[in-house]
Amino acid sequence: MQKWLDIAVSAPAHSQVGGLLTYASELSAEVGQLVRVPFGNREVLGVVWAVHDSLPSKISTHTVRNIAAVLEGVAPLNKHWRQLVQFTAQYYQRSIGEVAMAALPPQLRDLTTIQLARRLKKHSATSEELTAALQSPWPLSEQQIQVLAQMAEAPGPFLIHGATGSGKTEVYLQAVARCLSEDPESQALLMVPEINLTPQLEERVKARFGAVGVVSMHSGMTAPQRLKSWLAAHNGSARIVLGTRMSIFASMPKLKWIVVDEEHDASYKQQEGARYSARDLAVYRAKLEGAKVILGSATPSLESWHHSRPTAEGGRYLRLQMPSRIGAGQLPFVRRVDMNHQPRKTVLSSQLISAIQERVAKGEQSMLLLNRRGYAPVLHCADCDWKSECAHCSAFRVFHKIDRTLRCHHCGFTERVPRACPACGNADIAPMGRGTEQLEEHLAELLTGVKRPDGQPVRVMRIDADSTKLKGSLEAQLADVHSGEVDVLVGTQMIAKGHDFRRITLVAAVNPDGALFSSDFRAPERLFALLMQAGGRAGRDAAQSASSEMWVQTFHPSHALFEALKKHDYPAFAEQQLKERLEAGLPPTSFQALIRSDAKSQAVALAFLNHANLQLQSLSSLNQVDENDSGLLSEVSVYPAVPMSIQRVANVERAQMLMESPSRKALHRALDLMQQTLHATRSEPEHKGLIRWLVDVDPLAI
Ligand code: ADP
Ligand code: ZN
Ligand code: ZN
Repeated sequence: MQKWLDIAVSAPAHSQVGGLLTYASELSAEVGQLVRVPFGNREVLGVVWAVHDSLPSKISTHTVRNIAAVLEGVAPLNKHWRQLVQFTAQYYQRSIGEVAMAALPPQLRDLTTIQLARRLKKHSATSEELTAALQSPWPLSEQQIQVLAQMAEAPGPFLIHGATGSGKTEVYLQAVARCLSEDPESQALLMVPEINLTPQLEERVKARFGAVGVVSMHSGMTAPQRLKSWLAAHNGSARIVLGTRMSIFASMPKLKWIVVDEEHDASYKQQEGARYSARDLAVYRAKLEGAKVILGSATPSLESWHHSRPTAEGGRYLRLQMPSRIGAGQLPFVRRVDMNHQPRKTVLSSQLISAIQERVAKGEQSMLLLNRRGYAPVLHCADCDWKSECAHCSAFRVFHKIDRTLRCHHCGFTERVPRACPACGNADIAPMGRGTEQLEEHLAELLTGVKRPDGQPVRVMRIDADSTKLKGSLEAQLADVHSGEVDVLVGTQMIAKGHDFRRITLVAAVNPDGALFSSDFRAPERLFALLMQAGGRAGRDAAQSASSEMWVQTFHPSHALFEALKKHDYPAFAEQQLKERLEAGLPPTSFQALIRSDAKSQAVALAFLNHANLQLQSLSSLNQVDENDSGLLSEVSVYPAVPMSIQRVANVERAQMLMESPSRKALHRALDLMQQTLHATRSEPEHKGLIRWLVDVDPLAI
C-alpha cells in the first residue's frame, strides 16, 4: 500500500523548517528506518521520521518522489535517538536532517543490504567475558567506595569534583562495570575530550573490559572503522563506546550509563554545523533514556558547578567530592615567582632554572607549559615597524624557525621567512615574543652540561600541534616521557590534559598572565582549569608527591586566581567567579546566543545583523507577534553587531551579534523569530555581499 514518509536527509541547514522531505513509498518502511532516496540527481541516505497514510495537505502529489530502497539489515533508529536528534536540531537551530546525517557514519550510505548483513554478524561479548578483567587491580580507596555507594542510591545526574589523581577514572570504570554485570544487555558511553591525547585511557579501558566489547568513536578513525564501531554499538554487540563529543549521538539501544570525563573541557563543544555541547546533551540524553550520568572534573565548568550547588537555584546535579589523592599522595606545592623582580626580558627565572637542574640531577622529570606554539608569534622590523601580518587575516603570521616559515594559524597561509624586511630592506628583522620552539631551544642552552644520574646529558622534548602532526608521533613522544627518556617536557595545553605521568615532579607555567585581563569573561575560568590540570601532572606517584611543585611565573603574584591556585581551592575560585557573573548578568545565571555573519566587507556583515535585529524589534511594535511572544521578546537583550576579535580570516570579514536573556525559553523564542528575520533580510538586494550566517547557542567564547 502507498505510504507517505517524512524523511530526514542532509538538506542545507537553512533550507526549510524542520529539514524533512516528503517521499512516497510502496515498500514497507517504519519510523526510524534507514532508507536511500533520490535527492536532486543523486541518491542519498535518509532516516524515516514519520509515516502518513495520506498525503500531507500542503504537499502536491507530482512533487513527491519515491524512495529508492530500505536498508533492511539495519534495525530502525529508536525513539530516544530520534528525540535526541530532534532536540539538538531545535536547540542549536539547525535542521533535523543535518543533525541526523552528521550523527551517522558516512559509509552507511554506500552499503548494499547484502554487505550490511555480512557486517552485522553479531558477536556480542557475554557478561562473563566482560566481567573477567573487571576486578580492580587494587583495593578501592575509602573515597572511591563512598562515591560509588552514593551513586548506587541516587538517580543523578552526578558531578564528581575530584582532585587530579584522586582516582576518578577508577570510579567511572567501576560504575560502568557494575552496570554491565547487572544487566547482560546494558551499554555504557564513556566520553573523553580528545582520545588522541590520551591513548593511555583507551588501553586501560580495553585492558579492563576486553577489546571485544569496547569500541572507539572519534574523528581520527577511517570511514570503515567508524562504520564498524557504529554498527557494533547499534546492534548491541559493543557494550562500551569510548569516544569524543561525536559519540554522544552513537545509537545505543540499551544505554544505561554515560560518563563525561573532564567535563569542563572546551572540546565538548562542536564548533561547526550544529554547535552542540556534548556535555549538555549527555545530561539530556541520560534523562531521556533513564540512564545515569556522571560529569567529572577537578575543575568543573562553572555551569555544572552552579547546577550542583545545594541551593534552590542549583540542586539539579548531585555533587560528589573526592578531595584526596590516591595513597595519601599530595597535591604539588605552588610557588609563585614575581617576575617584577627579575631582570627585564627574563624568560625563565634563575630560581626555576636551578629547580629544574636539581630535578634532572635526581632523575625526576619537569614539565613547562607555554600556550603558544611556533618560535615567536610575530616577526618585527625595528627600523620601519613592519610586522609579519597575514595578507588574508587580521592576525600576525607566526615565525617557525625549524623550517624557516611564517605561518598563519588562522588560514594556513605559509611563506618562507624573508631575508630582509619586505617594507624597507633592513636585514635585521627579529622575532618578538616567544613560543614553545624558542622555549625548547632556550632550555637546551640553559641546561647544557647538566647530567642525569646515569651520566647521560639532559634531554628536552617539545610536544605541541607541530611536533605531533604525523600519525603516531604523539604516541611515540608520550612513550618517551613515560619511559623516562625525557627529562624536561615543553609544550602547550596538550601536555596538561589527563595524562597519567608517573615521574613528573615539577610543573611550571612560564607566562600565564595574558588570560587575567582578557576581554572574554571565561578566560579566568579556562586559565584556572588549565593550571590546575597542569599542576595535576606533578607528583602522581604518591611516593614522590610530597616534594612535587607547581611553579607560576607572573607579574601579578597576589591575583585572586593565583591565591586560590596556591590553596588548590577550586570552590573558592568558583564561588568568587559566580558572584561576579551573577552581578554582571552573565552565564550561568543568564543564557546567551551569538549570531555571526560572514561577508565580503565588514560593513555588509554588520549591516546584515543590525538590520535583522531591527526587524525583530519592530515585530512587537507593529503587533506582528502575539502578546505572549511580545512578552518573551522583552526579556531578551540584543546587543549591536560588532566585528569579531579576529575580524578577517581568509579574506572573509566576520561580525557577531550577542543575544542574552535570564530566560532560556525567551532566548529560544527570540532565536526562532530572529531566524525568520534573518531569512527575510537575506533576500533583500542590499545584503548581496553576505556569504553566510550562523547561530551559536551557549557559545563558549564571545
Ligand atoms: P584521576 O582520574 O582522578 O586523575 P586516576 O583514576 O587516573 O585519577 O588515578 C590516579 C592513579 O591512581 C592512576 O595511576 C590509577 O591507576 C591509580 N589508582 C586509582 N585507584 C586506585 C586505588 N584504589 N589504589 C591504588 N591506585 C589507584
Ligand atoms: Zn622594515
Ligand atoms: Zn591568515
